[in-house]
Amino acid sequence: MTVRQIIKMGNPLLRKVADEFTPEEIKSAETKILLEDMWDSLAAVGGIGLAAPQIGISKQLTVIKLSEESDRYPDMEDTEAFVIFNPKITVLDETEQGFWEGCLSVPGLRGFVERPRSIRVDYLDENAESMYIEIEDFLATVFQHELDHLIGKLYVDRMKDITTLMFEDEMIFEELEEEVLD
Ligand code: ZN
Repeated sequence: MTVRQIIKMGNPLLRKVADEFTPEEIKSAETKILLEDMWDSLAAVGGIGLAAPQIGISKQLTVIKLSEESDRYPDMEDTEAFVIFNPKITVLDETEQGFWEGCLSVPGLRGFVERPRSIRVDYLDENAESMYIEIEDFLATVFQHELDHLIGKLYVDRMKDITTLMFEDEMIFEELEEEVLD
């Protein structure tokens, strides 16, 4: 088990467009180790998604798993463990929905972000097979947040009202109707 250090906003690597994997790279032993490290690193901080650039690897890979056992997200339902290489997003429903987003690379802060409520993601799985998924609501926002990391974007870039950028310890979560993500 290897927990890798998560880099923070300000590191130029978070602002790069990440490189795609070849199918051979996806199936390599090196990538299998990288994937294990990503799951270990995510578990160590109790997060729900992690993109490879956040551990200093500028490649198009993200892992996502929502867990209903999370104390921070009491209404969240379990999902499968998604391993997403080389994703492409298509918006299915442009209607915007907002959540209070946080990010392991922007620790301590939350901001209100509105994004399309339903998307399709075409990607390669860990066997380099072509897959797609159609998702909506909270999971659609989680995917858009993580996939933004692969094109050098952070949630703060997507905020329309910067006055909603807040330190977590100043926020009164009970007064917020929207769910919180990080
Ligand atoms: Zn993030």
